[in-house]
Amino acid sequence: MFENAYFTKAELSCRCCGKLHFSDGTLRRLIRVRGRFAKPMVITSGYRCRDHCARIGSTMTHTTGQAVDVSVTGGRAYELLGIAIEEGFTGIGIKQKGSHKGRFLHLDDLEPIPGERTRPTVWSY
Ligand SMILES: [Zn+2]
Repeated sequence: MFENAYFTKAELSCRCCGKLHFSDGTLRRLIRVRGRFAKPMVITSGYRCRDHCARIGSTMTHTTGQAVDVSVTGGRAYELLGIAIEEGFTGIGIKQKGSHKGRFLHLDDLEPIPGERTRPTVWSY
């Protein structure tokens, strides 16, 4: 799966330890989105180990290997959002305030867990 034209192992690996447990299905979905988007997609976070999540105080969504954060703003964020939803990403996190280089969209395709995690859903940071 990692022999693809768009995403490298390094950008999808945990930034603290280099571990990589990324979902093949999610990667396929991401490749479809990237193909339609037809512009660079800078991944600022892919797989994260539990220790890394705990250290930065984030939720555990990235430990599933089914989530990415993409550095994107404005009109491109709008476009990417539409494509991501059409391709089946069901968890959308939006960070579009503050400095432009800190803005991103979180995309995941986690399955709903009854009573715990609803999908599809949108949240902001
Ligand atoms: Zn790590």
